[in-house]
Amino acid sequence: MNFDKVSEALRKKGYEVHTFATAAEAAEFVDGQIDGTSVAFGGSKTVEAMGLYDRLGAHNRVLWHWRLPEGKTADDLRREAIGADVYISGVNGLAETGEIINIDGTGNRVAATIYGHSRVIFVAGRNKIAPDYEKAYWRARNIAAPKIAVRFHVKTPCAANGGDRCYDCSSPERICRALSVLWMAPKGCSYEVILIDEDLGY
Ligand code: SF4
Repeated sequence: MNFDKVSEALRKKGYEVHTFATAAEAAEFVDGQIDGTSVAFGGSKTVEAMGLYDRLGAHNRVLWHWRLPEGKTADDLRREAIGADVYISGVNGLAETGEIINIDGTGNRVAATIYGHSRVIFVAGRNKIAPDYEKAYWRARNIAAPKIAVRFHVKTPCAANGGDRCYDCSSPERICRALSVLWMAPKGCSYEVILIDEDLGY
């Protein structure tokens, strides 16, 4: 995939951008950039596919509510993640015009990617990219979120129908409770986007 358009749009909006052919190459790059600090992760199949928790954990303090140390709960890890220096997150939709969209159930990821860390890194496979904001928003709501609902086996209409689309449900188990749109990189923090020419995550 040609990342020129989205890379240029993101750079204009204040992001440092790096592109890679594979998740393995991207993981090696990220691993070489972060050392001797604390790193927290948002829930992300892309982060998981890149193996970042184990790689970075070899030489950093890592915090992820998808990997619970003995005696800790997911909520413990989400709270501890607030104090991490670096935060790494996937995206649910990335517009070629540069807007970054995420949907969250607990709110930890949308909060962390807007404020509280000194460095935020987004990792995104090519499948997350849509031509403009409206299509990226549609993608986040109708592709990413329903597939995540299926993965978590929640009792929602989207999961019951195989993740076909969003039904804007009122289910008690609804996973879509907060939406973040970064129109530009927020002030006071270093923001990077890692683009990978593979389909990764939902
Ligand atoms: S709002 Fe409800 S139906 Fe729509 S994707 Fe989220 S959980 Fe599924």
